[in-house]
Amino acid sequence: MILVLLGPPGVGKGTQSRRLCKEYRIVHLSTGQLLRQAVQRGDELGGRVARIIQAGQLVPDQIVIELVTEYLRQHPDCLLDGFPRTVSQAEALDRWLAERQAQVELVVELQVQRAEIVRRLLERARIEGRADDTPTTIAKRLDVYHRQTHPVAEYYRRQGRLATADGNGGPEEVFQRIRQLIDQRLAGRASR
Ligand code: AMP
Repeated sequence: MILVLLGPPGVGKGTQSRRLCKEYRIVHLSTGQLLRQAVQRGDELGGRVARIIQAGQLVPDQIVIELVTEYLRQHPDCLLDGFPRTVSQAEALDRWLAERQAQVELVVELQVQRAEIVRRLLERARIEGRADDTPTTIAKRLDVYHRQTHPVAEYYRRQGRLATADGNGGPEEVFQRIRQLIDQRLAGRASR
C-alpha cells in the first residue's frame, strides 16, 4: 500500500509519518531525509542539493523521482512524506506505479494555519538546528509550497484520492483523525 502525506513544512508530517508507518506496517520514505543524507555524504549529488535546500527551493524533479522510484523498487509499501511536491512529480509517480499495476491508495493533506506553522518551525530550529529552518528560508519554503505543492492536492482531489485532516492539536489527536480517514478508505476498498 502506498500512502502520501501532504502538507506545508512544519505541519507535522514527520511526526505523523512515524506513527502511521507503525500502525500500517509500511516504510517511511521522507525525500527531505534522503536528500539531507546525500548532503551529509558529501557526494556529487549532495553538493548540488545542499545549496538548493538551504535556499528553500525544490530539488529538480528528475533527481527526486529517481531517488523515490529506486526506493520503491525495494519497498513497495511506503508512506511518502514530502513527495510528490510538484504536479509533474505526481504524474511521474502515477506513471511509474501504473506500469507495475499499482497506485497511490490515499493522499492525506494536513492543514494548519500559517502562524502556527511558523511557530512550530522556529521551535524545531531551536531543537534540531536544521539549516533550512531560518525565518527567511521558512518564508521561502511556505511560498514554494503554496505555488508548487498545493496544486498536487488538487491533482489528487480530481482523482478522488484526497482526504483532508485538521493538523491542529496534539500529535495523538491528529493521528486519530488521519487514522480514521485511512481506515474509511480501506473499508471502502474492501467493499468495492
Ligand atoms: P522536508 O524535509 O520535506 O521539509 O524537505 C527539505 C527540503 O528538501 C525541501 O525544502 C526541498 O529543498 C527538498 N525536497 C524534499 N522533498 C522534495 C521533493 N519531493 N522535491 C523537491 N525537493 C524536495
